[in-house]
Amino acid sequence: MTTEAEYRLPRTVIPSRYELTLAPDLGAATFTGSEVVEVSVVEPVRRVVLNAIELEVAEAAMTDAAGVVHPAVAIEYDEDRERVEFAFDSELAPGEWKLSASFSGILNDNLHGFYRSTYKDADGNEQVIATTQFEATDARRAFPCWDEPDLKATFAVTLVVDEDLVAVSNAAEVSAEPVGDGKVAHQYAETMKMATYLVAFIVGDFEIAGPVDAAGFPLRILHTPGKSHLADFALEAGAFALEYFGEYYDIPYPGDKLDMIAVPDFAWGAMENLGAVTYRETALLVDKKRATQDEMARVADVIAHELAHMWFGDLVTMKWWNGIWLNEAFATFMELKCVDAFRPDWKRWLTFANFRAQSMDVDGLTSTRPIEFPVASPEEANAMFDTLTYGKGSAVLRMLEQYLGEDTFRNGIRRYLKKHAYSNTETDDLWAALEAESGEPVGEIMSGWIYQGGYPQIDVVATDDGYRLEQRHFRFLGGGEETWQVPTLYRSGTDEGRVIVGAEAVELRAGSDFLVNRGGDGFYRINYPAETLQQLATGFAGLEPAERYTLIADTWANVLSGDKAAAEFIELVGALDGEDEPDVWGIAISGLAELGRVISSDDRPALQARVREMVGAQAAEMGWDPKPGESDLTRRLRGLLLRTLGNLGDDTETQQAARDVFDQATSDRDAVDADVADAVIGIVAANGGSDDFDQFLGLRDAATSPQDEVRYLRAAAAVPDRETATRLVEMVLAGEIRSQDANWLLARLIGHRDTGPTVWELVKSNWDGILNAMPPQNRRRMLDLIQYRSEPGIAADIQQWLTENPIGGADKYTEQQLERLRVRVGLREREGERLADVLEDAT
Ligand SMILES: [Zn+2]
Repeated sequence: MTTEAEYRLPRTVIPSRYELTLAPDLGAATFTGSEVVEVSVVEPVRRVVLNAIELEVAEAAMTDAAGVVHPAVAIEYDEDRERVEFAFDSELAPGEWKLSASFSGILNDNLHGFYRSTYKDADGNEQVIATTQFEATDARRAFPCWDEPDLKATFAVTLVVDEDLVAVSNAAEVSAEPVGDGKVAHQYAETMKMATYLVAFIVGDFEIAGPVDAAGFPLRILHTPGKSHLADFALEAGAFALEYFGEYYDIPYPGDKLDMIAVPDFAWGAMENLGAVTYRETALLVDKKRATQDEMARVADVIAHELAHMWFGDLVTMKWWNGIWLNEAFATFMELKCVDAFRPDWKRWLTFANFRAQSMDVDGLTSTRPIEFPVASPEEANAMFDTLTYGKGSAVLRMLEQYLGEDTFRNGIRRYLKKHAYSNTETDDLWAALEAESGEPVGEIMSGWIYQGGYPQIDVVATDDGYRLEQRHFRFLGGGEETWQVPTLYRSGTDEGRVIVGAEAVELRAGSDFLVNRGGDGFYRINYPAETLQQLATGFAGLEPAERYTLIADTWANVLSGDKAAAEFIELVGALDGEDEPDVWGIAISGLAELGRVISSDDRPALQARVREMVGAQAAEMGWDPKPGESDLTRRLRGLLLRTLGNLGDDTETQQAARDVFDQATSDRDAVDADVADAVIGIVAANGGSDDFDQFLGLRDAATSPQDEVRYLRAAAAVPDRETATRLVEMVLAGEIRSQDANWLLARLIGHRDTGPTVWELVKSNWDGILNAMPPQNRRRMLDLIQYRSEPGIAADIQQWLTENPIGGADKYTEQQLERLRVRVGLREREGERLADVLEDAT
């Protein structure tokens, strides 16, 4: 075990301003740099200790206030702790100094630090981009620095690059001067005081869309050549978000311009560098005519998320990485608020239920973790970026907001940001601001949600004149002992109320139409008595969509934990006939799909028949073509129902029709609605063969949007053919798949019902090559669908293999994925036959 103290820099020398010059050589994949850092020496020292890794420091010196230069007599590296130490032959006295250093490094291929991204230009030649990803702890790969979030400073950056390249950094360019040899020095304004992980440099042959006006600031999109048709939506969504957040926070945007850059190779979704936000291409560039509603919404979500960070994260920053949830949960929460205002017709808070459900799936494991817990090493900091930080974190903020009221909550946020601007905070600072605004004991209510893993289930028990609410720790495998202060909203008839359910049971007078978790925003499950559940199911359509969603999600969770039979779940989702919300259908269908994975192939036809019964009539009524004036969500629902009927329902008629529509879409992409096109590609893929596979790869190469590229690659991975699946694994090993995409592609292949076992064997026999095909921080994600490998022999083999061959930095993640797998092994054991009998009886 490491401790945080081992990794923290001594606080003897504190930086306040960096003057940085970087000169990348894109062809050679190297860079040189120099820096002058204004520092305060707070106690006499003979050594100055900074972070640096994979950097060669040629020389360093400290200059005192009188201008006397003290060269470092030794430059020593501590690779384990990613440090460089400059030693001096005399003591440096307290006071103001300047540290100067010159250094060189590499543009690496690991998608972190100062790194290389490549793309093919129109002539098929490889072009190189130099770009940065510093969060969590990789600024130290680009320049020696005090690389901790609370050692904030200002940054005055100069980039020296080839004259035909575009270069951007965090702040506006103030000058661009030729410096000989075909190079230009771009000098940028000094930034606000901020953390090192937010510094950015991006250099390449970019085209620029915009600027447009965004709340009074110039907003531009940078992309590789030939993609200008994909930038409109990001300009629109970005301008809206900057305006929205300025108003919500009641603080103007803290930068001086805003560039959003699409980077072809990107490990995460996007990165909130102040004024120079970088994105994976699918998260920024989109063809409005050919994208599904889901893909459009993702772009809007990610943009809103990153821009929410300009204040929450950039202006006010967590003190240390244990507090990263505060940044990420809040940005996720605000992303939803912003996009809900941008496109109310998209009902983002309903879609958010999926995100909550995913994190509850992990948080119901014994191997979960608290949202906030101690972090020491860089590896541990990177491990924090998971569904508990983002999903659970944002969901408990939403629960709190709905309990306190939206205006009170917003006023608390304004108070918090104004008080801590340009500074750093801990979780309690947020609670203090919300307490001051609401008068409620927010810290006391929230501490269980933040410092304990897991969540409760509230059992609703009928009493003489109402109900008793009791909580217990919900877990899929075996109960836990924790309790929470549960902010509970409820309804009975037209009476609405709120109450905190603590360790003691709460009794309420209510009628038989009693509903708990009103609005569906709670991070807990509800267990109703059978007759209440039946009554709610009867009046299903009268519930809010999010309430219908949670009712289904909670029932499904109880099937996974073994507390309810799958037959009860199937009966409940039978009430969905005519449901018009794709997200509500989606949670039901995902449960049915999981059942399809654990039932034997002999019994599967009975389940397929049941699925056809559920969705067939509604899908037929919707047809293959959108009707005039239809909403985006209706179009999404059509795609979902058709795909479900064709794949999960194995409906041959739909499969044949899908092939015709696919041919039509292939010859004229714009002739077919985007959500229908996506569905038919999915249906053809799931029922296709090697010819289809070749066609998908060809379509991927010819794709004109990042979403289409992903769509066709995903389709290729869905083809149920061991040979084509093997070819994809070989492509990953040969570097023919971008390293940023290898993790999700492998996850899908491993989870594939038919080809997964073959792929798993291949993955094991090429283990090192597979790991090296992905950036280190992405490797764990290849395990995302191992839960589907619940076949007894394979599940045990996966367990053993991952125990003997751990993925570095992914212990917790692996443990969670293995437990999710064990939950499904249990489901298979319980339901495999029991469910088949029920389905047989029904037919
Ligand atoms: Zn974020």
